Amino acid sequence: MSRFPEVSFMLSAAAAAQFPADHGVEIAFAGRSNAGKSTAINAITARHGLARTSKTPGRTRLLNFFSLGTDRRIVDLPGYGFAEGPREERAGWAPLIEALRPRASWRGLFLVVDSRRGVGDSDLELIDWADPARRWIHVLLSKADKLNRSESMKAQAAALALLDGRATVQLFSALRRIGVEEAQQRLESWLQK
Ligand code: GDP
Repeated sequence: MSRFPEVSFMLSAAAAAQFPADHGVEIAFAGRSNAGKSTAINAITARHGLARTSKTPGRTRLLNFFSLGTDRRIVDLPGYGFAEGPREERAGWAPLIEALRPRASWRGLFLVVDSRRGVGDSDLELIDWADPARRWIHVLLSKADKLNRSESMKAQAAALALLDGRATVQLFSALRRIGVEEAQQRLESWLQK
């Protein structure tokens, strides 16, 4: 049985006024476009097709909220870009995404980073924006099926060094189901706190 039997799509918010009421616990998912974020959400919640892996124009700038039960939510942030960093990108998201930041219910962030690229400046910027002193941050090094054992170890060590205590890190592959259980446990424990 799924750890998250009650998962369902709630709403796509185009404006802060549409956000669900700020109580309970909210866990965000973020990452560069194509990092594997939608695939990770689907694997972790065990709901194929919950988060859209194919890009639907017009929906990519929205914040998508999923319910995991009463007052328990996932919020799926827009993927940030290839050419520009999140700073420029955020100018487009703002004020929508900025409105998320002060929410008391937003307690943790899963940051999806392609394990072959490693943690980049844009990822570090996003982490600082999310405020690691205030929130749990956990990095999923995605598509780990593409790395061999020694590459995996190196990717993990490099990420830990760059993150410098701001986040925890794990290897993840939706395809080969590497670390799915670990990520589920992390999500579950955050939702209970
Ligand atoms: P998003 O833009 O971050 O939401 O990324 P998607 O979830 O749409 O995935 C981007 C691409 O990476 C797609 O072609 C996926 O099939 C691929 N992908 C996602 N997860 C994995 C994985 O675990 N292993 C491999 N090899 N490919 C993956």
